[in-house]
Formats: sequence, C-alpha cells, structure tokens
Amino acid sequence: MSNIKKYLAWDKSVRVMAVDATQIVQEIRDLHGLSNLATAALGRVCIVASMIASTLKNDDDRLTIQIKGEGPIGSIVVCADKNLNIKGYVSDPTVDLPLNSEGKLDVSGAIGMGTLTVIKDIGLKEPYIGTIELLTGEIGDDFAYYFNVSEQTPSVVSVGVLIGEDNKVKCAGGYIIQPLPECKDEVIDKLESINVKLPSMTSLMSEGQTIDDIAINSTGDKDIETVFEADAKLKCDCSSKRIEATIIALGKEDAINICKENNGIELCCNFCNKKYNYTLEEVEKLFK
Ligand SMILES: [Zn+2]
Repeated sequence: MSNIKKYLAWDKSVRVMAVDATQIVQEIRDLHGLSNLATAALGRVCIVASMIASTLKNDDDRLTIQIKGEGPIGSIVVCADKNLNIKGYVSDPTVDLPLNSEGKLDVSGAIGMGTLTVIKDIGLKEPYIGTIELLTGEIGDDFAYYFNVSEQTPSVVSVGVLIGEDNKVKCAGGYIIQPLPECKDEVIDKLESINVKLPSMTSLMSEGQTIDDIAINSTGDKDIETVFEADAKLKCDCSSKRIEATIIALGKEDAINICKENNGIELCCNFCNKKYNYTLEEVEKLFK
C-alpha cells in the first residue's frame, strides 16, 4: 500500500490527504542521530511537507518549509519535491527537554516563539512565499493557521510521531482535511464535530488503522474516493554541481584563502551529511 494518498469526500466537496510516514521518520532519526524530541519536531514537519508536496503539479516544482524559533532546537528546514522526495534537518539534533504537562514530548518548548515560512517554487518568476507567526509551535496547529491565513483554505491538520520504549519510531503520520469552496455548511459542521472528538493520529495508527481507515473516520464519509497515491521517501538531491555553486558564491579570494588555511575545502550537505572535498587546485579551476 502506498504511504501517501489523496481522497475526495462528501460528493467531491472535501479534499483529504493522509500519510503514514513511520519509515521516513525512523530513517531521518537514524540519519541525523536525532533525540526523541528532535525526531518528533522534525518528523511532524516532514509529515506535513509530504502532504503539501503531493499538491505540487510539475516535475521541477519544489517546496521548502522553514521554522525559525527562539527555542533550543534552533531552525527546522524541510524540502520536498513533486516526486515526494523529502529531506530535512534541525540545528540541534540532540535537543532534549522534560516532557510537557500532558506527559508528551515538548515540541513547542523546543521550537519556542518564531515563524513558519512555506516557499513553493512552482516555475514562476518568483517563488510563492507565505510566512506566519507560530501559533503554538506544536506544528499541526501552526499549519492549520498557515493554511487559513496564507492560503485562505480552512483546514484540519493532524500530525503525530510516537516513539516506543525501544526508542524506535512506533508510528508517525498525519492527515489534512480541506473543504472546497462548494462544500455545504452541514458537511463543515460535521467535519468539525468529528475532528474535535477524534483521537490523535498516533492513537489511530496504534489501533492499527490504515490511512484509508483514518480518511474515512476523520471525514465520516464511507464512500471516499482515492484520487492519488504514491510513496514519499527520504532522499537528498545534493550534487557536486550544487556544492560547487556554493564555493563559487564565496568569491575567489575567500574560497582560496579558506583552502590555504584548511588544506582544501570540505563541505557537508546539511540534509544528508554527505561530505564533498576540494583541493586548492580544484577550487582554482572552479574560478577559471
Ligand atoms: Zn545531501
């Protein structure tokens, strides 16, 4: 079964997206050596990113999500493309805080007050950029607020990452429900009353519900129609060409000075930790 799906509910008047990102979140935890708290924070952003990326239309379309807060985790950056290749990192992967008053990982404490920015590069002259102040720093609420304010799309956003006692990601996923303009008021009321009462995403997944089950249970429509399905995956698209562009951006003098001081230049991709090494000769060549 695909790990991400889009559906239409209530006579095509409601759009639903749902993702099971358990494997992706486990992989990104392993890749960056994330603490439980960093796994929850970065994982939640990756989950929403994968669903927004599923709405991109062209192969070259790209999505970047940046969260910049005053909390100890620092920045969170996640990128995704139309083919649902996801990559991301946080400034402090080891961040740790006591559990919050509900006994849960304190994602909002790790992030603090700050901003959420969504950048969609969809082949226009300028990318689309939407920024909001974080509402709670719990991610789901913040994206619901973002959709409402920046995209004028009222949305239910539920995301969750559950880490088991063995320190493995037990389940991770999310769903987004967006009534389309033609949606009837009574359907909107129904969606609200269902989602106020519905257990968290990770509770539903822990019960063994699939994303199909969750799409049905969160909309109350047994006849939802699947309109898209695919597999989101953790994959970085860095290349020596991009790294070389970074070196060129430093300017010839600075790049050569760094090279002389350090016996070459080593650059590491923030997203996948791959290292790229250049000798002085190679750097000089880049500027010819
Ligand atoms: Zn990379």
